[in-house]
Amino acid sequence: MKKFITQTDKQTQELGKLFAQELKAVCLPEQGTVVCLSGDLGSGKTTFTQGLLKGLKIKGPYTSPTFVVMKKYNNVYHIDAYRIKNKDLLGLGWEEMIADNKNIIIIEWAERVEKIIPKNAIWIRFRWIDRDKRELKFS
Ligand code: ADP
Ligand code: MG
Repeated sequence: MKKFITQTDKQTQELGKLFAQELKAVCLPEQGTVVCLSGDLGSGKTTFTQGLLKGLKIKGPYTSPTFVVMKKYNNVYHIDAYRIKNKDLLGLGWEEMIADNKNIIIIEWAERVEKIIPKNAIWIRFRWIDRDKRELKFS
């Protein structure tokens, strides 16, 4: 498990950008790549995702999907599961989404729909330390 402490929101974005490079090296034969972001409100999940999308060469603006639940950028999906239940996610075409190995699915609040997250998903756990410090644990 890798653990990082970032001191600014910019650093969290940079970490997201670097992580995009790692993701390019991961490609499962018959499954999409699922990146689960967990942690409290304000812990940096959306900030990290902005850097990650940039690193994946997705053109902005990247608005938070909090109010729309899901944003799709070609084969990259950004989901916010804060207000949804397993069945809502299934209704968005979750099974098909995660079955396509060209897809990258980034999901905030993944712990809320943990039951339908595939076993081989990547988990990043965010923790608020103080106003500008965040801890990110990758597993
Ligand atoms: P979440 O999506 O987890 O609710 P956001 O990324 O939307 O969190 O919000 C994080 C907030 O904390 C932003 O306002 C950001 O500017 C601020 N912030 C301060 N320091 C950091 C840091 N080191 N990493 C990420 N965000 C930080
Ligand atoms: Mg968020």
